Amino acid sequence: MKKGLNTICTHEGEIHDEQFKGAVSPLYMSTSYAFEDVEVKRYPRYFNTPNQVALSQKIAALEHAEAAMIFGSGMAAISTALLAFLKTGDHIVLQKTLYGGTYNFVSEEFSKYGIEYSFTEGLDPEDFEAKIKKNTKVIFVETPSNPLLTITDISAIAGIAQKHGLVSMIDNTFASPVNQNPIDFGIDIIIHSATKYMGGHSDICAGAVASTHEYMDRIFQLGKNLGGSLSDFTVWLLERSIKTMGIRVRAQNGNAQAMAEFLDAHSEIDKVYYPGLPNHPDHDLAKTQMRGFGGMLSFELNPKYDASQFQKALELIKPSMSLAGVESTVLSPAQTSHALIGPEERLNQGITDGLIRFSVGIEEPEDLMADIEQALKKISVEKMGLNTNPIV
Ligand SMILES: *Cc1c(COP(=O)(O)O)cnc(C)c1O
Repeated sequence: MKKGLNTICTHEGEIHDEQFKGAVSPLYMSTSYAFEDVEVKRYPRYFNTPNQVALSQKIAALEHAEAAMIFGSGMAAISTALLAFLKTGDHIVLQKTLYGGTYNFVSEEFSKYGIEYSFTEGLDPEDFEAKIKKNTKVIFVETPSNPLLTITDISAIAGIAQKHGLVSMIDNTFASPVNQNPIDFGIDIIIHSATKYMGGHSDICAGAVASTHEYMDRIFQLGKNLGGSLSDFTVWLLERSIKTMGIRVRAQNGNAQAMAEFLDAHSEIDKVYYPGLPNHPDHDLAKTQMRGFGGMLSFELNPKYDASQFQKALELIKPSMSLAGVESTVLSPAQTSHALIGPEERLNQGITDGLIRFSVGIEEPEDLMADIEQALKKISVEKMGLNTNPIV
């Protein structure tokens, strides 16, 4: 029977507690399992303990995939998936706007293995096709992208990969399986930082890959040697988190839309980047491949405001490096994720000093709006030297 999203989140892959009839999956912490008279040689680094297998089934079902594997971090998932399909002399085409950790992995490590790589000039399908060479094996996309929430055409990229006999991979972290299932558009391999929406409470570091049995077996063969599996206790916590992923992410979609509209109409905010706004350049494309537009958005403060002062003035919304928790957080890409690339290249990528990336949580949107209002008021008063706070 085909089940709906929240039923999969709650029940798919659960382990029935035959011994005590408990309501939730028991946690098996064993690293040692009998090897005689059993079919499967179980071991945490083989990604096949009872809890690992059960959660993999849930993630596979969420991504409409045949199989999945859970890793110790999003980067363990990304690095293992990439290296499983690339060897010395091979070439990969990657989207130009990638998560910083993926960019670092490729640019700092690939030359050691003799793997060639090219980043696209833009995000149109032609930009990907233009970089394909004779030895290209993999094409890698990330949509929506960080921090400007650009959208890449998933089915066009999958079509290009098929035409040239390449393996297509996507980092689906920002959308989450709630809003986007790239396998339905022909992408081969789906990767997640489960640290983000799957975990959702800013207390789990994990990753996941989902694909066909054939491709997952290839990733497993390398994964067991690299050793990037996830501890069973965290696997169990992640199962618990994913039970509420559907309701969390849908609430975050709604809040992000409300916040995007509020900021878009605000006189002190110059620009808002959110694929759910009709004025977003990729809004129509987003509608063809996303069921919801996600909980991430970015906005530009009017240049008269200072981004770090603004963040400090917020009371409810926390400045924070990570994203996708139930609590709202902000960061300044120019000061954090994109600090090392230099002001010129930053501007070239459209990242101004006043850009704020906003991970919208599940709080009441009115309270988030009030927080932004009070922060803007506070820093404009400070700027005019009219600090109303007497010395205490
Ligand atoms: C956080 C993140 C990653 C890396 O995941 P970790 O769990 O931190 O290793 C990869 N891609 C995207 C889009 C991310 O946001």
